[in-house]
Amino acid sequence: MRKLCTMLAALFFVLFSIGRVVAQTPTVQTLVRAGRMLDPRTGQVLSPAAVLIENGKIKEVGSPTQVQAHAPGVKTIDLGRATLLPGLIDSHTHLLLDVVVPPEAEIARHLNGKFAPGMLLTIVESPTKRVLMGAQLAREDLESGITTVRNLGHSGVDGDTELRDAINAGRVPGPRILASGRKLITRGEYVQNLNPALADAILHEEFLLIDGADRARQAVRQNEFQNVDVIKVSADENLTVPELAAVIEEAHRQHLKVAVHAIDATSIQTAIDAGADSIEHGNEATDGQLTQMRDKGIFFDLTPTSYGGFFLKIQEPSIVMSPAFHSANAYTEARRQRYDQLVQRVLKSGVRFAAGSDMCWFYPGKTRGEASVATLLNLRQAGMPALDVIRAITTSAAEMLGWSDRIGAIESGKFADLIAVAGDPVGDVSELERVRFVMKDGQVVRNDLTSH
Ligand SMILES: [Zn+2]
Repeated sequence: MRKLCTMLAALFFVLFSIGRVVAQTPTVQTLVRAGRMLDPRTGQVLSPAAVLIENGKIKEVGSPTQVQAHAPGVKTIDLGRATLLPGLIDSHTHLLLDVVVPPEAEIARHLNGKFAPGMLLTIVESPTKRVLMGAQLAREDLESGITTVRNLGHSGVDGDTELRDAINAGRVPGPRILASGRKLITRGEYVQNLNPALADAILHEEFLLIDGADRARQAVRQNEFQNVDVIKVSADENLTVPELAAVIEEAHRQHLKVAVHAIDATSIQTAIDAGADSIEHGNEATDGQLTQMRDKGIFFDLTPTSYGGFFLKIQEPSIVMSPAFHSANAYTEARRQRYDQLVQRVLKSGVRFAAGSDMCWFYPGKTRGEASVATLLNLRQAGMPALDVIRAITTSAAEMLGWSDRIGAIESGKFADLIAVAGDPVGDVSELERVRFVMKDGQVVRNDLTSH
């Protein structure tokens, strides 16, 4: 009886406290003013512009005189002549992976398919260490203007969902995260020559194995149990259409989208036939496949990593001046040329597209955010018009993620995720590599424009 009384007292206290919190939450309003505001959807610029923010959401957008009239005396952040844009969205990243490319001899000795030994080390390391590193990379993304990411695998069992929840609870700074949990793979995809006695245990720390349609469905349910936001599947020649279709059916039943990693034409066809929501990378897509994707409404998520000597940069710490360095150079150049052509074919096909950095490497001399934004902007080098590049990492990305009701544009009702650059990002898209102001949820993360 006494126990019951204590419990009831505790319950009333909790209810009372909640009631008080709700009653006491004051309306917090902020007004952000800037010389210009770009609407990526239409390409139109509002000048000058003001955004009224209330409790983390955008309440009104318009000319400063009009908006100020509705909120007299409101706290104002004046960004001078800067250009406002929606916060950036990186649709494909790996915040809990920061691979240092191992030396050549190390790679030669460990025949693990395409899976670098560095990634294997990440898996067997401490999950705690890994998620703390993820927290750092998340903060670095946010500081560079990336206010939302879709994290597609390589996080251990629950690293990305936990990091997402910690960020949402205000424990650590970072972008909004759509977390995929463990990536679904077929047996042949990664680390084939692990110690057989330990292989399954190690693989399960990172992946869920698809082996037949039933196991595929089970894998999706396991991720649902971890409360993921999206399902990531890696397609290779071992994955069958019925297996992938089972994944997609189960995920859609739970209102989760399915992002399918597919590089070669066979895997891309499997993803198209099974009805994927987005195809990640898609490097070897044929024109016929682009048309099929367009007709089925499948998003193409471009990951333009082959620019600016990328594969040389990540290998610098390990193999400077070795023969492998020179072959990596030739490889990068050939890859870049093929990617230029892919981007032109994607633009011509009319398929809907967004972009992801696929950043998962230790990149000497850059923070994770700097490396990610620079990679996304490679699309401009590939000949994509600047406005299309900006859409691919704002409005179109939000559509692909199924979140266009809350992010991707500066519109009333959406989260107050804003960035500002000093110049004109349509005239020079590299302005986005020099983001001067970042706001997420109405909170200022960075402001190099206003003197404090
Ligand atoms: Zn990836």
